[in-house]
Amino acid sequence: MTDIVANPAGDQGATPRSTPVGLAVTPRRVPVLNVYVDDISMDDLLEMREGAMATLHVDMIVKLQHDREFYDIWNTFDVVTCDSQFLYFALKLLRRGVCMRVSGSDYFPKFYTRYANDPSVTVFLVGAAPGIAEKARADINAKVGREIIVGTNAPAFDFRDGTPANDALIDEINASGATSLLVALGAGRQEKWIANNRHRMPNVKLFLPLGGTIDYEADAVKRPPAFITNIGLEWFWRLVREPKRRWRRYVIEEPKVIPYLVRDAFGKYRNPFST
Ligand code: UDP
Repeated sequence: MTDIVANPAGDQGATPRSTPVGLAVTPRRVPVLNVYVDDISMDDLLEMREGAMATLHVDMIVKLQHDREFYDIWNTFDVVTCDSQFLYFALKLLRRGVCMRVSGSDYFPKFYTRYANDPSVTVFLVGAAPGIAEKARADINAKVGREIIVGTNAPAFDFRDGTPANDALIDEINASGATSLLVALGAGRQEKWIANNRHRMPNVKLFLPLGGTIDYEADAVKRPPAFITNIGLEWFWRLVREPKRRWRRYVIEEPKVIPYLVRDAFGKYRNPFST
């Protein structure tokens, strides 16, 4: 089944696509600025067995306004969720609401619980600081009661595609036999890494670029209480806890999204990459 949805802002989202394996229907695609999100519930997303997902949040939207390489791979993701409560409210105001916010860090624990008794599902974790993914692996496997996490690797922060280190990482993922791959290398970088390398991992059916999820699973970073997230203040929680690491993103970069969205609301937004 294919489906064509025009995106007035650009050509991202306008290409025909098939229903991702496991989903009963192709989710409705909602344009926002020069990309899109899918209107999909958590329960439906958990049934997706093959493909790559992305979880759109404000930091990514801002990067997608100037990072051409990131923009160019957007269409390679089979499902894109609305990861941010701010974006969820903004889409409602734009009268393009989606049914719910589906964040990567909410999704992943539900994913391993859903497939706890399905031995065909195994996961490899890439990213986070040394030791963190190993701790997440031990904690998750203990919760699930089997070796669902079959391997981890924390690449050096400056590792690059096309290097022997990247080849070794891919060999390790392939040798693990993992059928799902969680990549946490920071927004933009993790999606590009998946788009550039997924064809080299034939066993992997599901690609999950899920940012800080490994840190949360290892309890290395504390999650805010749900009510903080629900009122759209997760950014403020993170800023207060890690001001040095976060101030630039939350104080300088992310507020840039507001004028973009205002222009979109009045039909004045221009995709910087449309020809
Ligand atoms: N990370 C990594 N290698 C990198 C950059 C980031 O392993 O080169 C990890 C980082 O340790 C963290 C995760 O990626 O576990 C998400 O990073 P961050 O919170 O900065 O990004 P976000 O997901 O919030 O965009």
